[in-house]
Amino acid sequence: MSDLTAFIARLPKAELHVHHVGSASPRIVAELAARHPDSPVPKDPEELARYFTFRDFAHFVEVYISVVDLIRDAEDIRLLTYEVARDMAAQHIRYAELTLTPYSSVIRDIPAPAYMEAIEDARTAAERDLGVVLRWCFDIPGELGLPAAEETARLATELPPDGLVSFGLGGPEKGWPRGLFKPAFDRAIAAGLHSVPHAGESTGPQTVWDALTELRAERIGHGNNAVHDPALLAHLAERGIPLEICPTSEVATRSVSSLAEHPLPQLIDAGVTVTINSDDPPMFGTDLSTEYAIAARLLGLDAGGVAALAKNAVTASFLDPAGKAALAAEIDAHLAAWTEAEAGAGTGAGTGAGAA
Ligand SMILES: [Zn+2]
Repeated sequence: MSDLTAFIARLPKAELHVHHVGSASPRIVAELAARHPDSPVPKDPEELARYFTFRDFAHFVEVYISVVDLIRDAEDIRLLTYEVARDMAAQHIRYAELTLTPYSSVIRDIPAPAYMEAIEDARTAAERDLGVVLRWCFDIPGELGLPAAEETARLATELPPDGLVSFGLGGPEKGWPRGLFKPAFDRAIAAGLHSVPHAGESTGPQTVWDALTELRAERIGHGNNAVHDPALLAHLAERGIPLEICPTSEVATRSVSSLAEHPLPQLIDAGVTVTINSDDPPMFGTDLSTEYAIAARLLGLDAGGVAALAKNAVTASFLDPAGKAALAAEIDAHLAAWTEAEAGAGTGAGTGAGAA
């Protein structure tokens, strides 16, 4: 397994489901806290690391809210975004569709134009300095209802930053039917954005159906509960609608009772395209490489299988065709170099077709 861990660590990766504030690592939180000394977030690095050690979902919410409270001006947004890209670069993430919740900042009095300028500054700098290509998904914080939906759609259609590619919906599923958000999605889709709502994480397969029919979803955030509906699995497979699976997050939020019971193998057996993602990585005590290692274990993959899974994310992304081809070629080159080195070492590592 340690060989495969090394392969994964250096594997060029794309990530399609990862939240902006939820990606703030202790290092980044320390930088934000230094800008706002009145915040209750611990300043001492050791204490901060302890504060960040994932305990349970309630603890996650507490940490998340305290980080949201640290984001008070456009410079905080710029710093957070660029530093998230730095953490991605360290994991060999080459491309990420980062889910942003601009509504949370706009209602905290960060002017929308300054917000857009800050994320675009960070995106340009991340690509130039770190080789990380970022694109944005603007998501509706569903628990804030229709005002949040309308304002997010307005921002996405009237002030769209250059990097914006998609429109999402997060927050609780129970009590917030996907169809409620149809007008906001209709508006975003009419403006050329892709539809990528969360669905089928905290509720069952019907929510995934609703995301498909009401919100015209092109990919599903999580969607792991689709496993309970064979007709839905067949539909997702036939239409080639990918799921953005986040194994550790889905266990942490009790969507799945344990990693051992994660439905990843059944989803793949049903022919559904699966991508591997980290969701809110530091807050769930994980990172994308760890999620790939978990997927490899659950699916019994070798290096070739992991590379095939990584290419699923490239194919399912909203990157332009040339960008997709370049990233897929990087993955192939990494696998070829690995296979050659393994053959040279005489260990005979397999390059099986993989289950992805
Ligand atoms: Zn999410």
